[in-house]
Amino acid sequence: MKIVRTVEELRRGLTGRVGLVPTMGALHEGHLSLMRECRTKCDTLVASVFVNPTQFGPNEDLDKYPRQETLDAKLAESTGIDLLFCPSLEEVYPGDQVSVHVHELASRYEGAVRPGHYNGVATVVLKLFEMSRCDVAIFGQKDLQQFAVISALAKAFYLPIDLIMHPTIRESDGLALSSRNVFLSAEERGIARGLSANLFTACAELKAGSSVDMVLAAARDNLGSVGFKVDYFDLVDTSTFSPTRSPIPGSALITAARLGTTRLIDNVLL
Ligand code: AMP
Repeated sequence: MKIVRTVEELRRGLTGRVGLVPTMGALHEGHLSLMRECRTKCDTLVASVFVNPTQFGPNEDLDKYPRQETLDAKLAESTGIDLLFCPSLEEVYPGDQVSVHVHELASRYEGAVRPGHYNGVATVVLKLFEMSRCDVAIFGQKDLQQFAVISALAKAFYLPIDLIMHPTIRESDGLALSSRNVFLSAEERGIARGLSANLFTACAELKAGSSVDMVLAAARDNLGSVGFKVDYFDLVDTSTFSPTRSPIPGSALITAARLGTTRLIDNVLL
């Protein structure tokens, strides 16, 4: 595995079918399982590590986002990647006058709570796609709305890239792995399992035919009563990210909630 920092170096290392796994580093088993899956689908496997400032809001955790390049390089290498692309801020944003704007898809849920977030995500992902000239790219289901945005990006710009969504990797108690879990106190970590537990329970109740509105209200109450501040807990159509009351394939239960200063997101597909 080689660490490369410029587009020129990156492109020199590309041969055959190129696979890309974009990350912000602080790698965990979720990221590594994306890399292992992508390994089977390409000749040259690139993972990128770039903490993208344009997807963070002014009051978000850009400065305290965990950074650990040496450890990340070791972890990524163990999955068999060929190139670890760690560009500088200047390499990715050399004084741009152009960026990507996401419309309605970014107006709800994560997009509403984090204004501008998906513009930053779409812009950096388009850049990474072009920098790596990838043929296949893989993303986690954990960031389901992000996958909808990237699918819309690929459609809007006719990008000839196979997009793969990989299932969410969880701790044994169900908590979705996240680089932000390190910010949870011991007490918050105990409570955090409630997020996925409520998703799984609500999903089972919807499949058994319970009223959608009652199931959603109960889940929000449960989370509130154990100490979460719920940003949203809803049933959505996964391609438009608009609310739906039809719990059918193609819909998902999505949630975001805060424990202290840590914000967790999760979802389950119906
Ligand atoms: P991030 O570094 O948080 O931007 O995540 C990089 C990629 O890893 C994104 O496609 C995420 O959706 C994916 N990812 C993050 N956490 C998980 C997880 N627990 N399971 C599967 N994929 C994940």
